[in-house]
Amino acid sequence: MPFDLSARLAERRAADLYRQRPLLQSPQGPRVVVDGQPLLAFCSNDYLGLANHPDVIKAWREGAERWGIGGGASHLVVGHSSPHHALEEALAEFTGRPRALLFSTGYMANLGAVTALVGQGDSVLQDRLNHASLLDAGLLSGARFSRYLHNDAASLETRLAKAVGNTLVVTDGVFSMDGDLAELPQLAAVARAKGAWLLVDDAHGFGALGATGGGIVEHFGLGMDDVQVLVGTLGKGFGTAGAFVAGSEELIETLVQFARPYIYTTSQPPALACATLRSLQLLRSEHWRREHLASLIAQFRHGAAQLGLTLMDSFTPIQPILVGDAGRALHLSQLLRERGVLVTAIRPPTVPAGSARLRVTLSAAHSSAQVQQLLDALAECYPLLGAEHV
Ligand SMILES: *Cc1c(COP(=O)(O)O)cnc(C)c1O
Repeated sequence: MPFDLSARLAERRAADLYRQRPLLQSPQGPRVVVDGQPLLAFCSNDYLGLANHPDVIKAWREGAERWGIGGGASHLVVGHSSPHHALEEALAEFTGRPRALLFSTGYMANLGAVTALVGQGDSVLQDRLNHASLLDAGLLSGARFSRYLHNDAASLETRLAKAVGNTLVVTDGVFSMDGDLAELPQLAAVARAKGAWLLVDDAHGFGALGATGGGIVEHFGLGMDDVQVLVGTLGKGFGTAGAFVAGSEELIETLVQFARPYIYTTSQPPALACATLRSLQLLRSEHWRREHLASLIAQFRHGAAQLGLTLMDSFTPIQPILVGDAGRALHLSQLLRERGVLVTAIRPPTVPAGSARLRVTLSAAHSSAQVQQLLDALAECYPLLGAEHV
């Protein structure tokens, strides 16, 4: 029998690695209903609380009235409509780059950008903790693929010395499962010295980092000479869906000509671009969201440290609690859920073996009282977990 799927599924279950999809029965927000249970949630990537914002909903509704629902065709045929174009221009202005190109998802933006830039005879160097979409893109490109030690410019330099052809260095901006920031100034300097290009996927930085939400490049004050290829996604801080690549005129034209996940897919609904245009305005102008978020992050880290929890080196809204064993992570998540708090356990292969964690994420939509509720629930649950394993 060629496909023994049941054995494969049983094996995953036995290793505490079986995945299940919680059924969300409410809009996104701090208070959700999941599988029939009202819960206080700390696991979405809606960092600024824009996913259910009335102005964004209104822009979507008005966009649908004016432009209909379906994109109808790919961008190169007849699917590139005025709202897509206006959003690209706004994203270029926002990122301070000549042009931006809209993709349907971040996964596709990464596949498209990497495979359009490098191929056989070239090199792609990636941080070993990069997002799966970047790693997949590197493998698919056919370029020589190598991983450097996490956030380690010296390790990158060693690998760059052996690189051949056009060389692309690829990193997350904010690492999605750890919450730490790429050491971009050092990585950029090392890449530049070797004539390599740097691609930064700042899915978790846009909106949350930088004075106006411009993400990690705004945080470090880096321009296009340092980061030639800047990727952002729209389903996280922006609260909508889709993604973009920003860079030079030539880069964007190259993607339009050669990025297959751009070319061979239907454009996103134009009304979605209308909604994102509105969320971009809110993200840039409502500084109180970033300020409130920063105070919640400080509150959480202070409280968690007092409880003796192991946090990671992060000042971003991603605040994982390291647990180690996948079974223990699942159990802690379950204990919290029994107390009305939802935090997802993240297990291998999403994170390295032995580093299972509860990935707490904070949002500007949370209140300080809600963060206290999370800390209180952790104070009750964490000792139960310890006792069980003595
Ligand atoms: C979420 C994420 C993506 C994928 O973006 P989607 O728009 O959800 O497909 C890509 N890169 C990183 C670092 C991410 O966290």
